[in-house]
Amino acid sequence: MEKLFIKDLEVKGKRVMVRVDYNVPLDAEGNITDDSRIRATLPTINFLLDERARVILTSHLGRPKGKTVPGLSLRPVAKRLSRLLGKEVPLAEDCIGPKVKKLVDKMNPGDVILLENLRFHPEEEKNDQGFARELAGLCEVFIQEAFGNCHRSHASMVGINDSVPVAAVGFLIKKEMEYFEKAVNNPLRPVVAILGGAKVSDKIKIVENLSKKMDKILIGGAMAFTFLKAQGYEVGRSLVEDSLLEEVKVVMEKARKNGIKFYLPVDFVVAEKFDPKAATKVVTFQEIPPNWYALDIGPASTRLFVEALSDARTIIWNGPMGAFEMDAFSRGTYAMVEAVTNSHALTIVGGGDTDVAFHRAGATFGISYISTGGGAFLKLLEGGELPGIAALTNKQIYEEKRRVLVGRSA
Ligand code: AMP
Repeated sequence: MEKLFIKDLEVKGKRVMVRVDYNVPLDAEGNITDDSRIRATLPTINFLLDERARVILTSHLGRPKGKTVPGLSLRPVAKRLSRLLGKEVPLAEDCIGPKVKKLVDKMNPGDVILLENLRFHPEEEKNDQGFARELAGLCEVFIQEAFGNCHRSHASMVGINDSVPVAAVGFLIKKEMEYFEKAVNNPLRPVVAILGGAKVSDKIKIVENLSKKMDKILIGGAMAFTFLKAQGYEVGRSLVEDSLLEEVKVVMEKARKNGIKFYLPVDFVVAEKFDPKAATKVVTFQEIPPNWYALDIGPASTRLFVEALSDARTIIWNGPMGAFEMDAFSRGTYAMVEAVTNSHALTIVGGGDTDVAFHRAGATFGISYISTGGGAFLKLLEGGELPGIAALTNKQIYEEKRRVLVGRSA
């Protein structure tokens, strides 16, 4: 059911809490190394500032496990946000409690405040109702923008919705959902999924779900070896999940019956050791030596995959084609980055490390959309529901209630 959108609401002068995902990477000195997640929330914050709302931002950062960990304070985020907005964003010393309440009560229209790390309280991850009520007590309107966290049933994601008068999505989540709809549920065809990464167990549900929706599925990364072994090939010491061999066979058979074209790599870069300095060579998929590790797709696989992409009108990509963090095993992934950016398709990238490859290649400009949600994006690819979105106010119900209220007061 369609959820309420920030623009459906009257926010002028109101205390609006925005749950954001400022779980940004920090270096050893606590400097932010990538502020994309902060920038992604600016349209919603600027919209609220234009409406002269009082903006209360809440987020988690890292895994402090319910304790105050100074190194995981949101202070660097408040500083970066102040610079990006061109106005002072104070950091409250906590996210609940009388001091925070007082600070919020003193806010003027057009003010922004950032509350301290939600996960300093163990109640956040336990979806504790009392904690959720305290947070909710700070605002009149709640906006969900923490897409990257929407697969988690935490207090600021799910519980809070029971205690706020109204809860809507902001510009970021709306965009995420619209692109997902265009790529997976209602794509221009042919639609192709590129799946890679380390573990089949993390992705088997995705392969299964996409087998009902895609025209082609290309499998790369270490995932490919469980598929190859299931067909009886020698894969040396490459990563394999033996417990999934049968399941993988069933999924491939289902895909075949559905008329989905399933592509596995036809050659690999293999190494004597899992080490960038090790001796390497390129071999076909039938010739992986028994004690070697296959760590990247080879040049013939790249050509095959590029060919398979040539008529695509929609491409979805999750997971690298090899151990791309090591230069010696990064060619396959970067060749696919080039192919995807050069295609004329609608292209969507998300989940895990895939966006890292695009950032490193300086190729983000060539992608239609890079999702901000790792686990949340994967959950959607599995065909699952996101609890953080499911719990928000339904647009239709809200509008019916309003019609009744307006009718009564007329
Ligand atoms: P994931 O988080 O499941 O998307 O997996 C990403 C990780 O998979 C990256 O760290 C890659 O180094 C790793 N990976 C991809 N292909 C291989 C491979 N052939 N052998 C070992 N690791 C791989």
